[in-house]
Parts: sequence; C-alpha cells; structure tokens
Amino acid sequence: MRDFPSPLIEVSEMIADSGGSSLDLCYQCGTCSGTCPWNLVRDFRVRNIISLAQLGLEGYEGEDLWLCATCNACVDRCPRGVEIVDVIRSVRTIITQAGTSPKTLGAVLGSVKANGNPWSGDSNARLAWAEALQARPFTERSEYAFFACCTQAYDARNVKVGRAALKLLKAAGVNFGMLDGAEKCCGDAVRKAGGQELFDELSDSNIEMLDAKGVKKMIVGSPHCLNTFAKEYPDKGGRYEVVHMASLLAELIKSRKLRPTRTFDGGKVVYHDPCYLGRQNQVYDAPRELLKAVPGLELLEFARNRQDSVCCGGGGGRLWMETPIEERLAVLKLKEAVKMGATTLATACPYCVSMFEDAKTALDLDSFRVADVTEIIADAVEEVRPS
Ligand code: SF4
Ligand code: SF4
Repeated sequence: MRDFPSPLIEVSEMIADSGGSSLDLCYQCGTCSGTCPWNLVRDFRVRNIISLAQLGLEGYEGEDLWLCATCNACVDRCPRGVEIVDVIRSVRTIITQAGTSPKTLGAVLGSVKANGNPWSGDSNARLAWAEALQARPFTERSEYAFFACCTQAYDARNVKVGRAALKLLKAAGVNFGMLDGAEKCCGDAVRKAGGQELFDELSDSNIEMLDAKGVKKMIVGSPHCLNTFAKEYPDKGGRYEVVHMASLLAELIKSRKLRPTRTFDGGKVVYHDPCYLGRQNQVYDAPRELLKAVPGLELLEFARNRQDSVCCGGGGGRLWMETPIEERLAVLKLKEAVKMGATTLATACPYCVSMFEDAKTALDLDSFRVADVTEIIADAVEEVRPS
C-alpha cells in the first residue's frame, strides 16, 4: 500500500464522490471478469479491483488497474447494475491524485495540460490539417460547428479521415462552420485515465468557448467526443446536440444529398463496432447502412459484433500505453478479419483506426486496408474523389 488516503471510509467516500457509488451493490459474482475481453489474451480479474475498492484499496499494488479500456462490456452484463467503469475511473482518480499513475499516462496528461491535446501538437496549429480545404468559420448562421477530435487534428493517419469528412460535408451542402482552433481535447481519455481535475479545466474551457460562439449543434468524428459532449458536459452546464459523422452521413445518403456511385474495389469489408459508438451510444445501424450503400461492397460481420463487439483496446488511455503484441485485442481481431476473408476493416473511431493500423503493421499485412467509414464513402462519392 502506498501513500493513499485512509481510513477505508475516506476512500469509499472519495470513490462515491467521483461517481463510483454503485460499488456497494457488488456481490462479487465475477460476471464482469468473465465478460472482460482482456481474458481473450491474458488473465485479468476486474472483480478483484471492485473488491479492492470495497476494501478501501488496502493492499493495492497497481498493476492491473490501468488495463481497463473502459469498453463497457462488463457494465452491460453486471446483474447488480454496478457502474464498473465509473468505479475504475474513480479509483484511478484517487491513485492519480496520490501521484502514482503510470509514467506514460503522466506524459500524455502533461501534453493535454500544456497544449490542449495529447499528441504534443502545437495548440496554435490545431486547424492546420484543414487549411487547404477552406471550410468556412463557424458563425451565428451556421447550423453545426465541426469539432475536430485531437487525434483527427494531429495524428497523420487520422488527419486523412478529418479531411474526407470536410469534403463530404461540403459536397452535401451541410451548413457547418469550423471552430477557430481554440478548442481543446474533449477530455474523455483524460477523465477515464484518472485526470478528473484536468477534465474539469478542459470542459470548462470548451463550454465557455462554445457558448460564447453560440454553438448549439456539433458534428464530431470521434465516438469519444460524442459520448463526452452528450453525456458528461451537461453535468458541467454544456448542453449541445451532437451528431457523429457516421449518423450524419447515413442521413445525407438517405436524403440523397450524397450519392455513393463509384464501385468499391477494396474486396470484402468487415465492420468493427467502436465501443463508444455502439455499446455506449447504440449507434450500430448507421455505419452498416453507409457501407451497404456503396456499390459492390460486400459487408462481413465479426462473430462477436454490435453489443458483443470486442474492444480494439484503445479506450480509457490505453491508446498511449504499451501492450505486448500477443496481448493486443486489435491484433486478435485483425487475425479474425483475415481468416474470414476480409481485405478491409472499416470502423468509425480515430482510436480504433490507430489501434488497427498498429495491428496491421505488427502483422505485416501490407495489402490489408484499415479505413474509417467516412473514407470509404468519400471514395465512393463522385464529387469528392480524389481525396
Ligand atoms: S458483475 Fe457486478 S456484481 Fe458481479 S462481481 Fe462484477 S461488479 Fe460485482
Ligand atoms: S470496461 Fe471493458 S476492459 Fe474494462 S473491465 Fe470492463 S470489460 Fe474489461
């Protein structure tokens, strides 16, 4: 036991104050441990963390707490309604406040604090990725603000997804505007990794900026932004209508504002449900409708899909943490994709794109394609190509 608050009652109160009050409901059945996808690649008993939290963290040694990718699979199955992710987040917050969180996460939180993003990107260059596309700035006449996720703004692979999104929105005549680059990380991974104070700073800053501009509706490309703006910002006073690109694109295709007419030449496509889009926000059909709208595209399904989908392993701060290749869930899933004959894996989340691109490299799958559904639609719409 390191230098954590004590006695037990104090820790319990801190967990409850941080949103983990459902901890008391746990009767140690172990369903959560049996559900957790980590057990496909290694032993991980999440029930032990819940038990440790009930005991006021007495005997905490730290190793497994940071494995949780906040995929929510265990929460869906818990017969007692324990909000397991909230409990883990609360415990991480206590550990982080005690100064004993993993070093890699400390560096990421440091970058978010200094630059407003986890990628050590220049905060003044947040919109550099979009400059060549000359999208209009947000004004009071704009219906939507486009909120670029940090990963789509700074990560070279995901920048391509953001650009495809802007081209499609322009081609469809959507009345949207860009924010001015003063936006900061939505704070999802920060909060899930235990950085509650920093999350408070980020959300306060974003809400002040969005409200000053009169933003009511936002388009996001990341399910993590979607979840955070829709479910966590209201508690801080920020209330916005938020739509994920996949949902918006499905509407634009239905209303024939976008027509994917080009024949797909990428072989068979398997769709991976991002946890924060699917399980957390029940968006299962829209991405599939998009893919099915592309001429010649054959859609495959993982054996475990939709609400049973296996996480890519990138949520809850895991994107920035080292995982041995043999323990990467994205590697496991990519092997399954190849085995079923897929030559493209489509998804709808920048974290998933990063995790599967890394898995592709680890497996030396040069000719396999990892793509966001936005990119596949951009390729199929005549007015948008070449991207
Ligand atoms: S599934 Fe729920 S009740 Fe069962 S051990 Fe896990 S947290 Fe406790
Ligand atoms: S949220 Fe997902 S990764 Fe975390 S303990 Fe539950 S099932 Fe495992």
